[in-house]
Amino acid sequence: MSNPSILILPGDGIGPEVMAEVRKVIDWYGAKRDLAFDVSEDLVGGAAYDKHGVPLADETMAKAQEVDAVLLGAVGGPKYDVLDFSVKPERGLLRLRKEMDLFANLRPAQCFDALADFSSLKKDVVAGLDIMIVRELTSGVYFGEPRGIFEEGNERVGINTQRYTESEIERAARAAFELAMKRNKKLCSMEKANVMESGILWREVVTRVGEEYPEVELSHMYADNGAMQLVRAPKQFDVIVTDNLFGDILSDCAAMLTGSLGMLPSASLGAPMANGRPKAMYEPVHGSAPDIAGQGKANPIACILSFAMALRYSFDQGDEATRLETAIEKVLADGVRTADLMGPEGGTPVSTSEMGDKIIEALDASL
Ligand code: NAD
Repeated sequence: MSNPSILILPGDGIGPEVMAEVRKVIDWYGAKRDLAFDVSEDLVGGAAYDKHGVPLADETMAKAQEVDAVLLGAVGGPKYDVLDFSVKPERGLLRLRKEMDLFANLRPAQCFDALADFSSLKKDVVAGLDIMIVRELTSGVYFGEPRGIFEEGNERVGINTQRYTESEIERAARAAFELAMKRNKKLCSMEKANVMESGILWREVVTRVGEEYPEVELSHMYADNGAMQLVRAPKQFDVIVTDNLFGDILSDCAAMLTGSLGMLPSASLGAPMANGRPKAMYEPVHGSAPDIAGQGKANPIACILSFAMALRYSFDQGDEATRLETAIEKVLADGVRTADLMGPEGGTPVSTSEMGDKIIEALDASL
């Protein structure tokens, strides 16, 4: 059987720097765990624009459709701010999400003990936190028609439309229930069924899908209360499923409970391919950080944790994903810190590549 395939799209700014550290980890799995991947690399974002005049070439899009997983660094930068909207770096990312039909966005919020002081909340509220938000990514108010700014009488009106079909809700719900089955079998669905018809339908469909998962304890919460509860007592949650708009806000809120942007991974999953693996793209939550690009200051952990998600969700290697997460936890517990993680208690300052090397050392020690 051929090796599983990965397409790496490092992108712009710190993207290539953090991705170089992911390459070390991928190579380690090939050398030490007999887990080899066929890795290819291509351009996205500003880097693709510089070469092709578009933020994602058709050939790159075609490759992304064929591989088992796409790993993306980050796109964008001040140099490209003047470009027309249609060729801005971010359009490359949106094209990947749209054409791969990546409808379920998985955003973990996990607090590493060594970084619990970084949260703006009290340590005991966040220590040990491990929740997963599943955000519907391809429908809802960001895509619904009609949309636009129209003349109405003697003033203008801005319109966006929240629209969800039953099948769109169903596939997002199913992804969330499947995840809950692999975790603590607890799922909370968030909408605003009190004021939105789309919320009423959302609740109905999630409840119906839930009948297929009797082991999962399903609860429903209005999204505004959900926001309060996430800040008040986040550990009450395991998996949360919600729509595109609420998910956008709630996942950022939950992520920040845990501290630095340099620590946050994500996965975007679509329908299963012929080999049973879901269409998938993994990427850190952060952007291209032009303010620190090229200085060896970027924290590569968000990108490495995104690869850990690929091990778990695309390659069925949950134990190896845990090995990688544990190695990262060990490095942090040892006080190894990129600049963004340097708090008042100090630590051993390291560059991007030194952080990667420390994680490899911890992986070696895990054998
Ligand atoms: P950003 O995430 O790039 O940076 C925000 C702040 O966090 C900066 O101070 C940066 O130095 C810091 N930071 C981010 N990642 C870090 C890391 N791994 N290690 C250490 N520090 C880190 O957001 P921004 O400054 O608003 O945007 C910069 C560019 O990135 C823009 O062009 C924006 O459009 C783009 N962007 C891309 C993505 C993406 O590719 N998914 C996401 C967000 C922003």
